[in-house]
This record gives sequence, C-alpha cells and structure tokens, in this order.
Amino acid sequence: PSSNGKTNLSLEIPTIKFTKLFINGEFVDSLSGKEFETIDPRSGEVIAKIAEGTKEDIDVAVKAARVAFDDGPWPRMPGFVRAKIMLKWADLIDQNIEEIAALDTIDAGKLYTFCKAVDIPGVANIIRYYAGAADKIHGKVLKPARELHAYTLMEPIGVVGHIIPWNFPSTMFAAKVAPALAAGCTMVLKPAEQTPLSALFYAHLAKEAGIPDGVLNVVPGFGATAGAAISSHMDIDKVSFTGSTEVGREIMVSAARSNLKPVSLELGGKSPLLIFDDADVNKAAELALLGILFNKGEICVAGSRVFVQEGIYDEFEKKLVEKAKAWVVGDPFDPKVQQGPQVDKKQFEKILSYIEHGKNDGATLLTGGKKIGDKGYYIEPTIFSNVKEDMRIAQDEIFGPVMALMKFKTIEEAIKSANNTKYGLAAGIVTKNLDIANTVSRSIRAGIIWINCYFAFGNDIPYGGYKMSGFGRDFGLESLHKYLQVKSVVTPIYNSPW
Ligand code: NAD
Repeated sequence: PSSNGKTNLSLEIPTIKFTKLFINGEFVDSLSGKEFETIDPRSGEVIAKIAEGTKEDIDVAVKAARVAFDDGPWPRMPGFVRAKIMLKWADLIDQNIEEIAALDTIDAGKLYTFCKAVDIPGVANIIRYYAGAADKIHGKVLKPARELHAYTLMEPIGVVGHIIPWNFPSTMFAAKVAPALAAGCTMVLKPAEQTPLSALFYAHLAKEAGIPDGVLNVVPGFGATAGAAISSHMDIDKVSFTGSTEVGREIMVSAARSNLKPVSLELGGKSPLLIFDDADVNKAAELALLGILFNKGEICVAGSRVFVQEGIYDEFEKKLVEKAKAWVVGDPFDPKVQQGPQVDKKQFEKILSYIEHGKNDGATLLTGGKKIGDKGYYIEPTIFSNVKEDMRIAQDEIFGPVMALMKFKTIEEAIKSANNTKYGLAAGIVTKNLDIANTVSRSIRAGIIWINCYFAFGNDIPYGGYKMSGFGRDFGLESLHKYLQVKSVVTPIYNSPW
C-alpha cells in the first residue's frame, strides 16, 4: 500500500497534505531542516516524511503561544465567541471525516470503519462539548467572616504543553486541546512520533475555522527532544500528558526542575475484569474478549487481567477461546476485520517478547501467541490461563492483544486480586447482583468502574487514574478545570475597620 495509492481493497488512500510543523498559524519546516518517516504498520513502508521539531522549534512555538496568550484576542474574547469558532471547527471536522479516518488508519493501524463512525465524529463532539462550556466559566461570590467582600475569578492557566500518545491520535488530540481552548488557554501540542498526520490536519482546519494564529501550535517530533523541551520549558504554564508511566515520571521531574509547572498525567494500566458466577457466560466472554482486543489491546484501560469465578470458569474459558479463534485480524480498511496491525515494530516486538515471558514463566497458552504473516505488525489474539498474579504478564502493561486469565472463589479474593497492581485506571464487573456490584465498585482503587459493560465512555464522564496510572482527569468539566486557576479578589465593605 502506498500513501497516495489504494489499499488492497481498492479504497483510495488520501494524499498526505500536511507534513510540516504548524506554528503561529503557518505550516513551516523545522529549523534544523530535519525530517522523520511515519510508517504504515500494515506493511512497514514509509507513508510520508514529516518535519521533525526539536527544542528550537518548541521555543518558537512557545513564543507564539505566549504572545497569543499575553496580547492576543483568544483569552480575552467572550466565551461565546470562542465557542462559535470552536463549533465552526467541529463542523469542518465533520466535513472531512473520511479523509481523517484514513489518516489514523494508515498511521496507527486502527480500524477504518470505527475511526469513521466513532473516533473522528467523536473529535467534533468533544470540541462541541467544551465549546458549550466556554461561556459558563465563572467564579463564586464569597462571604468571608470579616467585613470583606470577596469573589473568585476562574482564569485560564496560560500556555499549555500537550504531549499525546499514538493509540488514539484523534481522541487524545481533542481531549487535550478542546478543554484548554474553551478555558482561554493557548498551547503547543506534540503528537506521538508514530502518528503525526491527523493532528496536522486538525491544525489546518483550526486555522480555517478562525482560531487565531499562535493559539494552537502542533509540533511533531520525538519524546527525548521535542517532548522533553515541553516538559522542561520555563515559559509553559502547564503540561498535560498521556502515555507510559515511565515517561510520566520523567515529565514530572523536569516540570519540577524547571518552573514547577503543574502536570496532569494519564498513564498506563493493568485493568481487571471480574466475572461472577451469576453472569451470562456467553455475553461475559464477548465482553472480556472485546476488553482485551479492542484497538488491538493498545488502549490504556484494556481489560488485560480477567478474573472468573470458579462456578462458571470452565464454560467461560471454552467460550472465550472459541470466540478468540473466530476473531478476524487483517487489513484495518476491511470492514470485516476486527483487529489491525500493532502500531509499530517496537510495540510488535515488545508484545511478542511478553508472550515468550508468559510461556517461560509457566502460564498455559490457550490460543494465539504468534505473529501473523511476514508483512506488517499483526499478532494473533492471545490468551493465557494458569496465570499467577506475580507473573510479568499479570503485572506489566503489555499494550497488545494478550489476556491473562485467572480463577477466583470469593468476592474478597476477587477484590484483593483486582487491587494487586501498581496501576489504577479502570475495572469491569459482570454480575446481576447489586450487592456485589456496589461492594466491588467501591473497593477497587481505579478511576473508572464499568458494571456490565466495558469501554463505556462519554464526553461528560471523567477519566483518569489512581495510583501509578496518574492523576488529573480528561473529559467532563473536571478536565476544563485543569486549564483554569482560581484568583481570589478581596475588598473591604464600605465603613469596615479596614
Ligand atoms: P511514551 O510514553 O514513550 O510516549 C507517549 C508520548 O510521550 C509520545 O508523544 C512521546 O514522544 C512522548 N515522550 C516520550 N519520551 C518523552 C520524554 N522524555 N519527555 C517528554 N515526552 C516524551 O509511550 P510509547 O513509547 O509510545 O509506548 C510505550 C508504552 O507506553 C506502551 O507500551 C504502553 O504501555 C504505554 N502507553 C500508554 C498509553 C496510554 O494511553 N496510557 C498510550 C501509549 C502508550
């Protein structure tokens, strides 16, 4: 497949229109003139060469964002005017859904039909959600004990640095940028080096919608250079990051070492799915499979540890394996396909090495375990049973289609096992018993609990981690508040002792 050609399903692959850095409203080359290749994971072939931003380019982008924040119209305009521009941007995105969906499919190996139906329209709707909040940002009138009049203002935090991963290039872009824009911030976003294409397309449409120059800057580049330049920058007021726990830690350190900018971190997970004896076994097996295979397991809330109560365990295991064997892996442009290739060679090799760990550590490989074909980064849906909780496949985030299946007897045991992780992003519970559902959902230390569902997201549902899965929430008004800060204004009341 070539970037300007057709897929082997005769679908048109769009021409790649935007490959440069987007700074101060213009597409520009990097100052160093460097470029990097973005790769199609279906084939390992180069899609396009992208301008590579480094520290110097981040400096220029931050300057543009600073000027736009300190002197520009964006933070000063009434909220409804910002909202109007954001709504226009959302409409423009809706008019380009197919093209953007194809970009995420070739760049990340994501299912085209899903991007078209969910991810890209979702971007427009995230923008609309926060546009609706842009003119509802206000403080409070306080009633201090002394004879004072006091009130709070909610002010935009300033210049924001966003660093995002490759697994949801579009959703992550919108989840970071939309609330910050609504709050009146200006920003520099670094997309993941694996998936720069859609972010540059959104930047182009932002300009067309009338977002003023300098407000939104998009600088593709690598983590150790462009990313680190954001987290250590003295003139960035806040960093919002989604990615691995290791990098999250580095970002926090460099934020602390530079200007003490606040950070929010949405990091890794090893989320448990608990299935109780009263569950409908067939439906539970479907849910568990989706929980690990959706987006090829490249999702931080993947239900990678599945705990099944002993009464239904054998039947569940049988159904799960049957369904995993019927799961369709292949070209993500094919509407019949349920799982595309892993994002890149590094991720592909990491997943295969964890499968080897699983076998060597003594787990039983029930199905899968191998790569598929000789071209591209495809991996079979893989399920291990007889997994011990201290095995690497039960503790580490694999970020691929690999499930660790375990058995439990009592609710207490299930809760203890579910919490036996350094992570705390999500958990799922399958039961019809309200007491079990309520007890377990209060006992698991995770930021989101799904009862009889999984991956149920909403723009108004806050999402984020406990423990080493990070802190701060994306989505909901909680996310808007990450980009605001409170100022208290105090004055004496007439004739007061002041
Ligand atoms: P990563 O954390 O290295 O990359 C995420 C983003 O951070 C990218 O934009 C990257 O360029 C940037 N980055 C990397 N190093 C940086 C640094 N020192 N300073 C600033 N920014 C930096 O993730 P990855 O290497 O692409 O994937 C590794 C693992 O991370 C995956 O296997 C998975 O476990 C996890 N991950 C989690 C999520 C999530 O949504 N929570 C997303 C992607 C990856």
